[in-house]
Amino acid sequence: MLIYVDGKLKTKDQAKISVFDHGFLYGDGIFEGIRVYEGNVFRLAEHIDRLYESAKTIALRIPITREELTQATLDTVAANGLRNAYIRLVISRGPGDLGIDPANCSEPSVVIIVGTIKLYPEELYRTGIALVTSSVPRIPTQCLDPRIKSLNYLNNIMAKIEARQAGVLEAVMLNLNGRVAECTADNIFRFKNGLLETPDLMHGALAGITRAAVLELAARNGIRTREGALGLHDLYNADECFLTGTGAEIMPVIKIDGREIGDGKPGAKTLDLLRQFRELRVREGSRVDYPRAAAAAAEG
Ligand code: PMP
Repeated sequence: MLIYVDGKLKTKDQAKISVFDHGFLYGDGIFEGIRVYEGNVFRLAEHIDRLYESAKTIALRIPITREELTQATLDTVAANGLRNAYIRLVISRGPGDLGIDPANCSEPSVVIIVGTIKLYPEELYRTGIALVTSSVPRIPTQCLDPRIKSLNYLNNIMAKIEARQAGVLEAVMLNLNGRVAECTADNIFRFKNGLLETPDLMHGALAGITRAAVLELAARNGIRTREGALGLHDLYNADECFLTGTGAEIMPVIKIDGREIGDGKPGAKTLDLLRQFRELRVREGSRVDYPRAAAAAAEG
């Protein structure tokens, strides 16, 4: 495994970040999770845009340009020779001292890891999954804009622990007004009377790349959509419900807090969107140039 750290490819053992890095000390940084399908990096430009926008808001200057980061990402995928993979892009504030002041940090660290993650087993796409509602609210939008994909996931992690303790894999997170925000690492949708609905960003949802792809697919299929406020009542009484995320893609939800959703089976419209998403995911991407990267590596 070759990992990009500040401009250089390192082996897994060599790839290291300082213990003084504020990403480690304070969770001061941002990240992206991206999929590679059959040598295509899915919606790389959108991920890069989201990363630079997160950086702008937290006043972090990414030390390389979008073009350089895009190329570095493609080259790191190629250098690992993986045609199907998961990419983790991390930009942290960089090494500083023991105070929180980022002014004392020298240069942000740029890390690109290309590997695999444990995805939902394929069987779950046929059976669907159950959710519970977490008692841990989503970070209020007044505290942190949900569009920032930051290295602070502690409340999502606590919600995930609750899900695990309840014997399910994901948890619904509400905002402080009791409206549905999203799940711990996924956005959430429901179908009701043919209308496809999802919480809007200002209710605490991350601007998911998969979420956007699903809204586009819906528009192409003539499905009416609405982004707005949703309560648990709306989820419990949905005809169909599903999650979206880079790891999850489109995962049918069949039960929430013990209430069966629809007929308790993955919905037909959900499964149709999943089928279409799986066709699109190999077409819509930035192609990785494996031979070029191999030649460049051979030249040293
Ligand atoms: N919400 C949260 C909190 C997430 O971390 C993620 C990404 N894992 C998502 C939603 C889904 O976003 P995307 O489709 O861009 O992966």
